[in-house]
Amino acid sequence: MTQDLTKEVQRRYHRLLEEGANPNEWAYAWRSEYNRGGFKAVDFLMEEVVNPGKCIGCAACLTICPVDVFDYVNEKPQDSRNSACVFCELCVDACPVLRPTDTDLPRQMQLREPSIDDGFGPYAYAVLARTTREYILNEGQDGGICSALAIHGMQTGAFKGVVVGNEDPDNPQMGYAQLATTPEEVLVSARSRYSYQPNTLALVEAMEQGIAPLAVVGVPCQVDGVRQQQFSSIRLDVAEWYRKNIVLVIGLFCSEAFTEAGIDWLAEDLGVPKRDITNINIKGRLEIKLRDGREETRSLKAFGKFARPACLYCMDYAADNADIGLGGIGLNGWTFTVIRTEAGHRAWQALLEAGWVETKELDEAPKSKELLVRLSRYKRNRPLPALMPTHLEREAIGNLDPKHYYRGWEDGCSAKDWRPLPPPPPKKKKTKSKSEESTP
Ligand SMILES: Cc1cc2nc3c(=O)[nH]c(=O)nc-3n(C[C@H](O)[C@H](O)[C@H](O)COP(=O)(O)OP(=O)(O)OC[C@H]3O[C@@H](n4cnc5c(N)ncnc54)[C@H](O)[C@@H]3O)c2cc1C
Ligand code: SF4
Ligand code: SF4
Repeated sequence: MTQDLTKEVQRRYHRLLEEGANPNEWAYAWRSEYNRGGFKAVDFLMEEVVNPGKCIGCAACLTICPVDVFDYVNEKPQDSRNSACVFCELCVDACPVLRPTDTDLPRQMQLREPSIDDGFGPYAYAVLARTTREYILNEGQDGGICSALAIHGMQTGAFKGVVVGNEDPDNPQMGYAQLATTPEEVLVSARSRYSYQPNTLALVEAMEQGIAPLAVVGVPCQVDGVRQQQFSSIRLDVAEWYRKNIVLVIGLFCSEAFTEAGIDWLAEDLGVPKRDITNINIKGRLEIKLRDGREETRSLKAFGKFARPACLYCMDYAADNADIGLGGIGLNGWTFTVIRTEAGHRAWQALLEAGWVETKELDEAPKSKELLVRLSRYKRNRPLPALMPTHLEREAIGNLDPKHYYRGWEDGCSAKDWRPLPPPPPKKKKTKSKSEESTP
């Protein structure tokens, strides 16, 4: 009976996809069951998202689950306590892969007016910025704005905890989720690790310990997962807690993350142990800092083969649903700072008034804005993840690269015109040249 109902919800969902229904209505496939006692949503989530390899790892299903059904293993949820499911449907409702965010999200987020969208999400104003606090700037990835916002908010009491990530001391390019409760903890979490770091797992700890108000730092998939949790139309206590207590969401621009195999490859290529790669910054190429003070560069193209396949299923580059979006986008020592909401505006103004930042107009780096629009377009114009092929199907055509799966995006074509890139031509057998043949 339980299984039948889950299958029925799945059939309903697929019917909506096949009929070309408005994607904002897809959620009714499961929401219509809620008042009838729900269904075993964990099975639906595993079959539609996790097993087909479409999970982007945002951890929203795990942190919203009121009965702790999931563990987080290898960048995705594992339904270790499947039978504990209480049919609340929250995990499915919070998953950004199953559907686009609700149309009333901009109102819920309280965008600051007048709000415009130049192609990288709604925003009120944007500047290039860097912090004047040298101790933060020295640790920051770009202009240290993310850490400055977090530390200033903590010092003024605007938040008691900040969900960030921290580096693994033996492999500093890999990170783990951390709930920072002191400015010192925020500071050590600074810089970017271009691998996948599930910051939002720390939300559970914050809720369990009642640490609030909270700020959250995350890449766009995590920002979307947080918003889906806060504003889920299934109004249960967990969602309510996040809605009330997360007061600032800071989003980092993100083209894609990379796998740990990429770090292994880099360490080997540089001839150093992984723990000696202290920082990587991507500015058209990889700019690498080593523990002994050396600085190296490597081609981004070569590193690109380690892009995380799951990132194909992500539609957001500029953290469109954050209160503040931040990125380094071709800048050196400055952060491209986009203020989107009232909460973002309040946090930003507090930083400005305290004299913690200096700013420049966007016109001083016109190429950065152009690039931001272009990279955002590639992600937002893709077909929605539910309509994309599964990991296995991509494997079969020989293309797991999230950045070069579709073609046509450069021209800004619409999703229906997009085509997967053809599989690479079979490698020709190397035939010996005449001169080789004559060499003994
Ligand atoms: C995986 C990844 C991909 C990115 N891709 C782009 C891009 O394509 N274009 C672009 O312009 N900018 C990108 N960024 C953002 C950029 O690297 C900087 O984070 C941003 O400019 C803010 O710099 P800052 O000096 O203000 O931040 P800082 O003050 O240094 O603070 C950085 C914050 O990021 C958090 N963090 C570090 N690594 C991760 C991670 N893997 N996942 C989640 N949080 C993390 C830290 O905990 C810290 O709170 C990316 C960041 C990440 C993590
Ligand atoms: S994408 Fe996020 S919410 Fe969806 S299954 Fe994966 S971790 Fe869970
Ligand atoms: S590309 Fe998307 S899914 Fe991948 S890490 Fe960045 S925000 Fe997450």
